[in-house]
Amino acid sequence: MILPKNHRLTPEQVATVTAIVEEFGCKIQPIIGAVRTIYAIVGDERDELMINRLEGLPYIERIDRIQSPFKLMDKRSDLATHRIKLGGVTLGEELLVIAGACTIDPKNPNYFYETAAAVKEAGAQVLRGGVWKPRTNPYTFQGDTKSLDILMEASRRTGLPVDTEVMDEPQIGLALDAGVALLQIGARNALNYALLRQVGRAIADRRDTVVLLKRSIHMGPLNEFISAAEYIAAFGNPNVILCPRGTTPTLDGYRNHPDESITPLLKEKTWAPVVVDPSHSVGKASYVPAAALAAVAYGADGLCIEAHVEPAKGIGDDPKQAITPDVLKATIAQAKALWTLRRG
Ligand code: PEP
Ligand code: MN
Repeated sequence: MILPKNHRLTPEQVATVTAIVEEFGCKIQPIIGAVRTIYAIVGDERDELMINRLEGLPYIERIDRIQSPFKLMDKRSDLATHRIKLGGVTLGEELLVIAGACTIDPKNPNYFYETAAAVKEAGAQVLRGGVWKPRTNPYTFQGDTKSLDILMEASRRTGLPVDTEVMDEPQIGLALDAGVALLQIGARNALNYALLRQVGRAIADRRDTVVLLKRSIHMGPLNEFISAAEYIAAFGNPNVILCPRGTTPTLDGYRNHPDESITPLLKEKTWAPVVVDPSHSVGKASYVPAAALAAVAYGADGLCIEAHVEPAKGIGDDPKQAITPDVLKATIAQAKALWTLRRG
């Protein structure tokens, strides 16, 4: 929909606008109001270049798009009936809980093995463990490829599928070859379109592989988040889960600005499941259970929670934000009860 700055376009301006939209296979339909005339774009209005050219005209106030920018992730697309399965859970039918350490300590693998067994016992269906870590400070521990063996050994011992973050193409290849079921794209790479394409291409023919796409750190628009998922799905595998994890600017006292409340808004736009990460959102273990329950109350399909058998002995985020297995167990029980309550 084209909204002119003045009450209506002059005949010359209509001719210019018409010539532009016709180049993109569209037509113009004026909608004449008592005071103002606006102009509907009839046809596929998704071409960015057409919109930019129209918005560049000095007599155009703005273009309001009616069509969804997502062909695949849109709630009204043919994929709306697609169901993602992970760890024996069909997303949307049962609450999915991903839990485990922020960072695997390659020098002390037993902490991870014990954590893996404990999160399984607490009720998690997927095990998380950071092998390669995106760290703000280049001098802090960046992860270690050796941890991939520890992750997969924990997977064998528990029978749980695993989630780990990948940041470049070699890591994607190593993780997939090892058998990682859930590839995590972190908040720092959530808008790294080259990486999103690489992931989409790598999983195109692997229908059992799923991507957990975190929301970017800045308080980005929902369409930007869903479009990032579209980048991956465009290669043919639509198994993408959206993961709000808090944004900046932070809410004083929390690590980020908790954003589980965007869940119902996402669900109005996309069929993609939403799995909220309360751990990075609030950034402190004592706040995590309430944030997890808030996410379920908002309609999340699952939770991704950092947990550790001995948080104080952990590395990465674990000393400050990992919850213990007993707290995880209680949180999962409450989250499941709330989930059932919501479903009526
Ligand atoms: C993580 O999951 O440990 C992590 C670094 O997440 P995020 O990308 O959300 O910061
Ligand atoms: Mn972490």
